[in-house]
Amino acid sequence: MAEIQRAQDASDRDAETVDQQALDEVVRFTSDLIRIDTSNTGDGTCRERPAAEYVAERLAEVGIEPVLLERTPGRTNVVARIRGSDPSADALLVHGHLDVVPAEPADWQVHPFSGEVRDGVVWGRGAIDMKNMDAMMLATVRQWARSGVRPRRDVVLAFTADEEASAEDGSGFLADHHADLFEGCTEGISESGAFTFHAGGGMRIYPIAAGERGTAWLKLTARGRAGHGSKVNRDNAVSRLADAVSRIGAHEWPVRLTPTVRAALRELAALYDLDVDPERPDFDVDALMAKLGPAAKLVEPTVRNSANPTMLTAGYKVNVIPGSATAYVDGRVVPGGEAEFRTTMDALTGPDVSWDYHHGEVALQAPVDSSSFAAMRAAIERFDPDGHVVPYCMSGGTDAKQFSRLGIVGYGFSPLRLPEGFDYQALFHGVDERVPVEGLHFGVRVLDHFLRGVPGSR
Ligand SMILES: [Zn+2]
Repeated sequence: MAEIQRAQDASDRDAETVDQQALDEVVRFTSDLIRIDTSNTGDGTCRERPAAEYVAERLAEVGIEPVLLERTPGRTNVVARIRGSDPSADALLVHGHLDVVPAEPADWQVHPFSGEVRDGVVWGRGAIDMKNMDAMMLATVRQWARSGVRPRRDVVLAFTADEEASAEDGSGFLADHHADLFEGCTEGISESGAFTFHAGGGMRIYPIAAGERGTAWLKLTARGRAGHGSKVNRDNAVSRLADAVSRIGAHEWPVRLTPTVRAALRELAALYDLDVDPERPDFDVDALMAKLGPAAKLVEPTVRNSANPTMLTAGYKVNVIPGSATAYVDGRVVPGGEAEFRTTMDALTGPDVSWDYHHGEVALQAPVDSSSFAAMRAAIERFDPDGHVVPYCMSGGTDAKQFSRLGIVGYGFSPLRLPEGFDYQALFHGVDERVPVEGLHFGVRVLDHFLRGVPGSR
């Protein structure tokens, strides 16, 4: 009987799922987009335009009218709106960036810009981050156009430039200068969530991002009295800077649990049959993480602020004490942790070293009890009934930070089923980035299912 039920479930799934053309297209589009080299080194030489034109053509072919937008020539963004069937529902933003981080071909088994499909796997830079999602977005909406499907909510598609650097030519530009294109959008989905995380023992976890730590890149400046290296000097800028940097590096940041991380810890503990409650005053997060094994990686970077010294500059000659010395620190701040971060940095740097934001980005927090989160969870569970969805907070940032300025609540939902041996986090920006064809098929099925039915948040 169980066999029959399973067969019935499978045929229900098949009956409702995407057509063969969409499955073929998601692979071809991923491969084609990888072949368009959009490496973003951050020095302004990246040109997303050919990838943007490719995307725009695929949309126009099925009657969807895209808008191409540039702040800087060649740094092209594409936006399109698909009207939903329920005019009272708010709109949903689905965004993917078109640029990729650079890749060094000599390090790779397969050329990173070949887009080669070998033994059921698509190889190349962007296969995971995130030309796969761009291709899934295209394959999904093209099938809707072919078969006359309309989602309930308006779906706004945005393919952005410049995510891998400052976003100034991409989502930042769109948010600041083209807010009208995103009218009615209350929520957005994009990268870095809903991939298979293999937690050992055959357990598959799908972390959906419902928050991001903020970015606090700091410049520290120590000033002192310049002079000859042979003289007594108690106002040495290099020593002052070194003291501050050392204090920052050694600082133990206190645990600060945000609602998303609390929910993640609660759900992970339940998965592992651990009787712990993050709401209790004696809750020990480090003790829990020690029991979670590999899954601890999903929460460890986001239970507290962090600050890592990364760059030092001072002096020009061994017998000359310089008048100043500078250092850079990569700080990351949990949602709500900004004030504590600032006062802690004031204390750690002390009176002789000043600090300032070299670059800052807000932290984000999205509700995990929203109807959209429930719909994302249901879509994953439909196509991987033995998978476990948990919310999590990203340690870094995405374009969702820029779109948050428009009041859009961001989730990391770029569904992807990966077999064991495919470590998503290692492939992300890594050598031999690649994605299984089956994983893309899963992704387009889940995305289609979610986008068709997701209820509005009003
Ligand atoms: Zn990315």
